[in-house]
Amino acid sequence: MGNLQTRIQKIEEDIREVCKRTGRNSSEITVVAVTKQVTATHASKVLEANIVNLGENRAEELLNKQQKIQTKAVWHFIGNVQSRKVKDIVDTTDYLHSVDKLSIAKEIQKRASRTLECFIQVNVSGEETKSGVTPNELQNFVNELGAFDKIRVVGLMTMAPFTEDSDLIRSVFRSLRELRDKIAAQQLPHAPCNGLSMGMSNDYIIAIEEGATHVRIGTALVGAESEEDA
Ligand SMILES: *Cc1c(COP(=O)(O)O)cnc(C)c1O
Repeated sequence: MGNLQTRIQKIEEDIREVCKRTGRNSSEITVVAVTKQVTATHASKVLEANIVNLGENRAEELLNKQQKIQTKAVWHFIGNVQSRKVKDIVDTTDYLHSVDKLSIAKEIQKRASRTLECFIQVNVSGEETKSGVTPNELQNFVNELGAFDKIRVVGLMTMAPFTEDSDLIRSVFRSLRELRDKIAAQQLPHAPCNGLSMGMSNDYIIAIEEGATHVRIGTALVGAESEEDA
């Protein structure tokens, strides 16, 4: 897989190429380096390579990395968040990608000392193992979040099914974009909802073709721990 710098260059080239081909501006796309599988030391190297957005999916590991890493970073929480853990992460997380329950919203409202930028996770593919509101529940959930002034809905997030079928992956991303367009068109003060958090190591190119604004890339960018010194 080569070293970190090579992997980052490849991803940046891919993004430039897709943007050129689709008429998008690459400044619209935020690369979130998912560091959940590597140590704080390794994550620091990602920051040194000028990637400023880091993603973690467990509260303990987010706090551990935040404590150990001195370089300034923008922190994204991308995993399922348990209600009782909200208080631990709410004031040090910049973006929460996985809001999908009122219980979580209530806990954010109770614990946050400032407004938190949130993506609503949508289970577009309908797989039982996946978190997220269903597409049918989305509008109602967005409306309900209007009661929580500590939550700003900046976009929607989804995970594609684990499959080689790129048409299926594309249709999931496209559906999320259509849902996002519908919410954004309402110009709700609490839900500007311009963002689309979709695309991981295996499908970020398709995601950007379909309008992703935030790609969450782990292995293809960060590598595996064994490559730490590569
Ligand atoms: C782990 C994870 C990623 C990154 O996955 P890779 O396939 O390693 O790029 C992205 N999003 C979420 C929610 C994750 O849990």
